[in-house]
Amino acid sequence: MLTVDEALDAVLKRVSPLAARATTLDRAQDCLLAEDVAADIDLPPFDKSMVDGYAVRTADLADRVHQLRVVEEVTAGRVPSLPLGAGEAAHIMTGAPLPAGADAVVMHEKTRREGDVVEILERDVSAGRNCLERGREARRGAVVLEAGVRLTPVRLGLLASVGRTRVMVVPRPSVVVVPTGDELVEPDQVPGPGQIRNSNATMIAAMVRAAGAGVRVHPAVGDEPGALARALAAALEDDVLVITGGVSAGTHDLVPGVLDELGVARVFHKVRVRPGKPVWFGVRPGAGDPGPPKLVFGLPGNPISGLVAFLLFVRPALVRLAGGAEPDDRTFEARLARPFVQKGDRPTYHPAVLKRRTRGKPGVEPLEWAGSSDLSTVARAEGFVCFPPGEQTYRTGEIVRFLPLG
Ligand code: AMP
Ligand code: MG
Repeated sequence: MLTVDEALDAVLKRVSPLAARATTLDRAQDCLLAEDVAADIDLPPFDKSMVDGYAVRTADLADRVHQLRVVEEVTAGRVPSLPLGAGEAAHIMTGAPLPAGADAVVMHEKTRREGDVVEILERDVSAGRNCLERGREARRGAVVLEAGVRLTPVRLGLLASVGRTRVMVVPRPSVVVVPTGDELVEPDQVPGPGQIRNSNATMIAAMVRAAGAGVRVHPAVGDEPGALARALAAALEDDVLVITGGVSAGTHDLVPGVLDELGVARVFHKVRVRPGKPVWFGVRPGAGDPGPPKLVFGLPGNPISGLVAFLLFVRPALVRLAGGAEPDDRTFEARLARPFVQKGDRPTYHPAVLKRRTRGKPGVEPLEWAGSSDLSTVARAEGFVCFPPGEQTYRTGEIVRFLPLG
């Protein structure tokens, strides 16, 4: 059985970033930019006023002249019709172009207007005051965003300001989640005898979205080989297929056999970890297409087993497909806030909440829980303490590793 590290290596070895493609800005959020983008015009495109006030010639004010004749009004979107002559000012609004000859703007609050004369109350107005010169933010042709940056809202705004409506990005991976199990009913149903609600589809789909990928959810499929084969064959269209349930050792755990028949090559089945041991991973070479292989994950049906397997193996794969360079190991050190007895031959992920920092490390308190189906407890947890295998009693204050959920 592979260790967690070996299994993660086996996954990541088979994952490379998706090929870049052009997309509209509204679909590009959080994606990685895959081209250098240059300004198509000077930013700003003209010398402009940054405030509402009066455009002036500072040379006039040097002679202790404080009264200027207002010769026109320039609002944003208009262009001044006249250059400013000696002793003249223009009433100007934020964002409007400066008239030729003007070299500063005095804020409205520091002026007094009477008829067509404005008195400048501010002293020592220096050239450039309240003005932004053409090209100050970026010159036409200058690269404003480099390939490899993540497209935040501000960067999307910058792309719009240089005239881009489409950009090359590493696309969001497309993921399909297929829940399996005869016992499943949908959340709006009251479970009958022996039935349980399908909570995995909702949780795993949300984990996929949180990892920055796109997701669609297949209705739950029963434990019947024909139905399973049809559902999984259709689902292999997407970049990643995540199945929940049906990968353990029960007589109705049909997923590995069906995937085998569909030509998905198994890379591993079962990892030395608790919970999450039955996890299955395989790849299907694109049929005829030279693209990267489709990734197929079979997660154990028990919600927390599936969640831990998702965090350990699926999430890193999704991040890498999207071009991300997230460190493979997201765990960090924390100090136990209470004693803990660990037993078992596998590394164990135990739900826990973070506490106040002590001696330079966050505290962490393992929660009492009812095992790998216990969503109620894990809903309060912020992640999992990772205990190495073996029997050991940990004391308060001992350092452990913590895998955050978020
Ligand atoms: P399996 O991995 O198919 O053997 O499932 C293990 C256990 O996980 C089952 O007995 C169910 O109680 C639970 N389970 C399976 N699928 C789901 C699901 N979609 N939502 C919630 N619990 C599930
Ligand atoms: Mg099952």
